[in-house]
Amino acid sequence: MTSLETIVSLAKRKGFVFPGSDIYGGLAGTWDYGPLGVLLKENIKREWWKSMRKPHIFPLDSAIISSAKVWQSSGHTDHFTDPLVECKKCKRRFRTDHIEDTKCPECGGALGESRQFNMMFKTHAGAIEDESAVAYLRPETAQGIFINFKNVVDAFHPKLAFGIAQIGKAFRNEITPRNFVFRSREFEQMELEYFCDPKDADQYFGEIRAMRMQWFLNLGIKKENLRFRDYAGDELAHYSKATTDIEYRFGLSQDGFSELEGVANRTDFDLKNHFPEYHWTGDDFIKSDAGFVPNVIEPSVGVDRAFLAFMIDAYDEDELAGDKRVVLRLHPRLAPITVAVFPLVSNKEHITEKAKEVFDVLSREFMVRWDDIGNIGKRYRRQDEIGTPWCVTIDYQTLEDGTVTVRDRDTAKQERVAISEVAALFREKLI
Ligand SMILES: [Zn+2]
Repeated sequence: MTSLETIVSLAKRKGFVFPGSDIYGGLAGTWDYGPLGVLLKENIKREWWKSMRKPHIFPLDSAIISSAKVWQSSGHTDHFTDPLVECKKCKRRFRTDHIEDTKCPECGGALGESRQFNMMFKTHAGAIEDESAVAYLRPETAQGIFINFKNVVDAFHPKLAFGIAQIGKAFRNEITPRNFVFRSREFEQMELEYFCDPKDADQYFGEIRAMRMQWFLNLGIKKENLRFRDYAGDELAHYSKATTDIEYRFGLSQDGFSELEGVANRTDFDLKNHFPEYHWTGDDFIKSDAGFVPNVIEPSVGVDRAFLAFMIDAYDEDELAGDKRVVLRLHPRLAPITVAVFPLVSNKEHITEKAKEVFDVLSREFMVRWDDIGNIGKRYRRQDEIGTPWCVTIDYQTLEDGTVTVRDRDTAKQERVAISEVAALFREKLI
């Protein structure tokens, strides 16, 4: 099992993720994604959007700063809270459910009474900092979808069932952010809200649950590291009829498994909150006592949590010709860099020129990195460590017959391929 420390260290060293506000001592629960982290995250999001490419799924990008009324209606103002205790001596606060003692774990001081602490980031929109200007950074992207439900219906007149999908940042003032990007204060969510006739809700719940598990498997996560965990009745949120977590073996809990994605049947709770007088009548959502309120099935996954799962799952150490290497076996569609291009030697003009040609051709379609430093073996290792599936070397033979060496990350096998066929080869492997 790969330890979290190994991943955190690799992430920083190779430019995937850096601690937030690092040069000023850091800001707990925030992380800055570096060049490779951005690329990996973009690829994860693209794969998610691809899985949402269906005629009855509508994309949305709602505002992060939102009216206090949204969160009053949704119940977050009153209920999105954590129970906290404060140390009377050092004033540090701890989650009541994380404290096993009656003493402060930091200084040993006495702890006060447990009280509720709202986890939303509050701010003021505009110049005046009074109650009327209070706004919140959204603690989840889902509500942005619910409040736009009628807008989408009126613009597109979809028939049930249909979905609205969104990727975006969300913010929670976690008291104990921890485990790297697993639980942070600023994170990104990928959420689908799938609206249906209440009588079909169980069926869609089952289908979406299976579809989401398959998404992770298709992108290479090992089957033995994933599992479903259905919530018992007393674990369910008051508005939910059924919830399943897709858990991944992050290695952060007693049995190793923690939540990666949640799939919930949220019933008609959210639409009723925001549109108390509206019903689905005929093919429309209108002010009416007749009809029904659509139910919603929600698969919700954190981009950052998926990022961490893909990193942990891909990390491997093996031996090549007696040489130890670190290799990230990321799915080629997720790898930050798809192809690395190496001129065998950097002081031979014709080789460099030819390599630049290959670089330009491949760059039209793929994320390509140039490396002309050190011997080829070292360059391979550098690419293995960041998960680059293929390396292309331009050498003396290239000048003679127009072929290059293509080396595979996982097998370390090399083959000669004509320059004119290289792009097609990768294109085929990426399908
Ligand atoms: Zn204390």
